[in-house]
Amino acid sequence: MAPSRLALHGGVPTIKTKFARYQSLGREEDLAVQRVLRRGVLSGFVAGDGDGSNGGEEVQALESEVAQMFDVEHCISTNSWTSGLECIIGSLQVDPGDEVITSPWTMAATATAALHHDLVPIFADISPETFNIDPNAVVDLITPRTRAIIAPDIFGQSAEVEVLMRIADRHGLWVVSDSAQSPFATRFGKLAGTQSHIGGLSLNHHKHINCGEGGLILTNSKDLATRSRGLRNHREVIANAHEFDAPVHSMAGHNFRLGELEAAIARSQMRKLARQVGTRIRAAEQLTEGLSDLEGIKLPYVDPANKHVFYVYGIVLEDGFPVKRNQLVHALQAEGVPSLFEGYQNLHRLPVFEARYLQTRLPRSASPVARSCPTAELLHDQRFLGVNMCAHEYSPDEVEQMIRAFKKVWGQLDKLAT
Ligand SMILES: *Cc1c(COP(=O)(O)O)cnc(C)c1O
Repeated sequence: MAPSRLALHGGVPTIKTKFARYQSLGREEDLAVQRVLRRGVLSGFVAGDGDGSNGGEEVQALESEVAQMFDVEHCISTNSWTSGLECIIGSLQVDPGDEVITSPWTMAATATAALHHDLVPIFADISPETFNIDPNAVVDLITPRTRAIIAPDIFGQSAEVEVLMRIADRHGLWVVSDSAQSPFATRFGKLAGTQSHIGGLSLNHHKHINCGEGGLILTNSKDLATRSRGLRNHREVIANAHEFDAPVHSMAGHNFRLGELEAAIARSQMRKLARQVGTRIRAAEQLTEGLSDLEGIKLPYVDPANKHVFYVYGIVLEDGFPVKRNQLVHALQAEGVPSLFEGYQNLHRLPVFEARYLQTRLPRSASPVARSCPTAELLHDQRFLGVNMCAHEYSPDEVEQMIRAFKKVWGQLDKLAT
């Protein structure tokens, strides 16, 4: 029997239904919101001395619950993880013109947090297997001006944080973990975001769990926690009340405070985190099993030390794959496969970093833009495609349909443009 015609060429799509949107909100969050509304206090923060400097009832409860869950001394909530990163970089107390080494294969906020403090992001290439920053590339870029490594735990899998910490120890650097995409991921059994000097998570609406917008800073360092808390809430005002308590007197703060409604929702969401992450892992494992026979692609590599929580399911076309990536993606999309995307990020090629370089005119040892990251570039330009695993529920039946769509396209690769 001849295979049924590809949907791209007018055939019937394999997937005829729209997949259910990923949804972690339910009755618990409804009750949490009602609890806050009945109390009548939507924010407990005050930009001044005293209790209100650290937020309201829900904010403080969220922070102590998260610190306990993640087994860290301090949790500081913020109104987004972008804000959280900005507090973290400020808390490191480094000087304008200093360098931070980070990955080009991450959401832009990982690197712009450094720009906002007049630091120079230097981009180190990534591992083609895990897509995380390559520790060897980091070592090559360390200069006397390097102060920190900002390591994303990308797509749901921890970076090689113990290796980065050893490098940092040798050179006197900070390590910051951006675990926005990897809540409850582990490495050697330890939670992502807790094994560097400071790290944290995002609670925005397209992550595993969410409260609309929000971030959670995690650290065991009292100093970093105090300064991050200060930057979150107009520290200059509060420090003034203490007659400039060192070492935070010189910090210009922000309003990066989380509201009580969001904090209450976040508390409910945290209780569901293990379950939500579990559903992503289940869907990813089913995909890997179903797609394992397809030729010419590499399915996600999970480092044996890691538990991967699959924010993104990343696929890499092997050298010599017979079809152009965008043809393949179009064919799969025509079959009804949702939330597929081509390439990811190449931050080192964004003009903002070059413009900033010219603007600051600070003495420097390297230009972040001039330096190439061949692995990140090849993946972005030609080889990588991803499935956004927090876009849909991906029930077992839906994943089965996706697998059927992939197999149909693979059966007729010769009919697609090369
Ligand atoms: C989502 C994300 C951020 C930003 O988090 P927001 O809460 O949206 O500000 C930063 N880094 C990475 C890797 C992310 O995925």
